[in-house]
Amino acid sequence: MPTKDLIRLVRANNPSPLTGSGTNSYLLGRGEVAVIDPGPDLDSHFAALFAALEPGERITTILVTHAHLDHSALVPRLKAATGAEVLAFGPAHSGRSAIMSELAGQGLTGSEGADAGFQPDLRLTDGEVVSIAGLEIETLHLPGHMGCHVGFAAGDILFSGDHVMQWSSTLVSPPDGDMTAYMATLGALARRKWSRFLPGHGPEVTDPVTRMAELAEHRLLRERAILQALRAVDGATAAELAKLIYTATPPHLMYAASRNVLAHLIDLSCRNLVHMSPGPLATASFHAP
Ligand SMILES: [Zn+2]
Repeated sequence: MPTKDLIRLVRANNPSPLTGSGTNSYLLGRGEVAVIDPGPDLDSHFAALFAALEPGERITTILVTHAHLDHSALVPRLKAATGAEVLAFGPAHSGRSAIMSELAGQGLTGSEGADAGFQPDLRLTDGEVVSIAGLEIETLHLPGHMGCHVGFAAGDILFSGDHVMQWSSTLVSPPDGDMTAYMATLGALARRKWSRFLPGHGPEVTDPVTRMAELAEHRLLRERAILQALRAVDGATAAELAKLIYTATPPHLMYAASRNVLAHLIDLSCRNLVHMSPGPLATASFHAP
């Protein structure tokens, strides 16, 4: 059976500005079925996953792209109901780079959506291939949105989680979000051959190469705007720079905007393109060199 016939989409009813039309859960295989990202802990979604199974089918494996509640909160219930084994990179704070661990140590918390209790039965590593639901599934470690984020490749199809989506760019909010890692993993993904990406939210990505180029370009434009703004002022915090750059952004989205700017500034300072005053990273003042 072609791989595409072994994939079923079940979309959760949790639409929001961050989840788009809702979280995408995928059923993989026939007979013995794997669930990629069980989704939010909603009765309706729990029932929908079982309703999508044919008579006689059972869920034997749970794969999780990353430990954000909209992807993983249903894991304990689904595991309890099916006995399925849970496979993922690791708990919510695993896979962080040294600088993001340092930032977390300074008390900066990540996006509110982290699933602090998430714990897989089996931890997957980058490049590991496991046979699941009759398919060879390769795990790709894709930090950027979150340190523990992985994608699952089935041939030239990638379950891309929140790393590459068609409907939106990815939230990169330190210390979970890491712009240096995001750009590196985006570049590495672009060097492989893909037919399509099945993301954690929104419609499938039918032209992954073009989409990844667009996403990289979007970040580079933002980076250029930050450097330009920084040259015009004598030192600024991430929040101050966000106010200068995101002039058309409504107030309730400014916090997310300043986190995005902070992600860029940390990346730029790691590349020695900006200087940072000493002190806690989250409130540090940044300077053009
Ligand atoms: Zn997420």
